[in-house]
Amino acid sequence: MTTATVDLRSDTVTRPTPQMREAMMAAPLGDDVYGDDPSVNALQQQLAHMLGFEAALFVPTGTQGNLCAILSHCQRGEEYIVGQMAHCYRWEGGNAAVFGSVQPQPLEHRPDGSFALDDIEAAIKPDDPHFAVTRLLALENTWGGKLLPFEFIQQATALAASRGLSRHLDGARLFNAAVRQAQLNGSDAYVEARRIADCFDSVSVCLSKGLGAPVGSVLCASRAVIDRAVRIRKMAGGGMRQAGFLAAAGSYALEHHVNRLAEDHALAQRLAEGLGGISGVQVEAPQTNIVFVDLVGPARARAAELIPYLKAHGVLASGLYRLRFVTHLDVDAAGVDHAAEVVRAFLAQ
Ligand SMILES: *Cc1c(COP(=O)(O)O)cnc(C)c1O
Repeated sequence: MTTATVDLRSDTVTRPTPQMREAMMAAPLGDDVYGDDPSVNALQQQLAHMLGFEAALFVPTGTQGNLCAILSHCQRGEEYIVGQMAHCYRWEGGNAAVFGSVQPQPLEHRPDGSFALDDIEAAIKPDDPHFAVTRLLALENTWGGKLLPFEFIQQATALAASRGLSRHLDGARLFNAAVRQAQLNGSDAYVEARRIADCFDSVSVCLSKGLGAPVGSVLCASRAVIDRAVRIRKMAGGGMRQAGFLAAAGSYALEHHVNRLAEDHALAQRLAEGLGGISGVQVEAPQTNIVFVDLVGPARARAAELIPYLKAHGVLASGLYRLRFVTHLDVDAAGVDHAAEVVRAFLAQ
């Protein structure tokens, strides 16, 4: 029995490891608004190089990374095509519209997270004064913990390019996608991350999720796009000073915490198996580190009681649209087994 709380709300809850803290404390620092922070510069170069881009920009959050990208690609009165349940449409407070007068054009997802290519095609507006100018296609990988099919990414981004649109990837969990794709292809996660990134004009990556850094995201793109993004970041209040402490944690994570994401994926699998045998529980087989669960049958009526029950028994989960458990650096097999046991006990009541 675990006595400590098992926090499965999100992979954002991780705290820096002792080795990461050491890297942070040793980081050389400067004022990044002047471009003087060696650790920020090193992180930006590291990820730009890893993903094959000219330049990169360290930002405080994934939300700001997406905002900087969208407002760098699109002008006022233009629009971006995006998933109905994509983070940079649904979960960012409408920021591109609020701050940039850029309208989203949401599309329905297919169950695997992709869109019908015909839907993309149909969403691209003709050149007519009635319409906003369609400027950008934004995809997300992983999406709800699902690896977006690589063939879809290739086709969708090729279609976008052929119609003169830019392509942005919200790769908050790009490395979870890359680790999974590498596993399927018998390949290397860094190689797969690069293959995915090659399909896009910009990619934003969260360091503060499964990679385990305390704060920060990085937007990668061409020099011209990053030059615009620097200005947006400043307007949004994201120009940080001696941010090298944080950047050093990110660099450490990119070096040491990418391949270990496979452990989080295995724990998610273990949790899904533990929950799978419980009557009244329907589990969606996880592809990476996120397990979605639905209560079905008579148990369904009690769904609202489950999260408080879990909390009272030392398990934190989130449930905005569906019940969700996320594995990460700070949980172990005993923790996920405990979570499954508590769900079992709840349904046995
Ligand atoms: C978490 C997340 C973000 C935003 O990151 P924050 O740092 O929380 O602002 C963006 N996109 C996706 C897909 C995410 O999961």
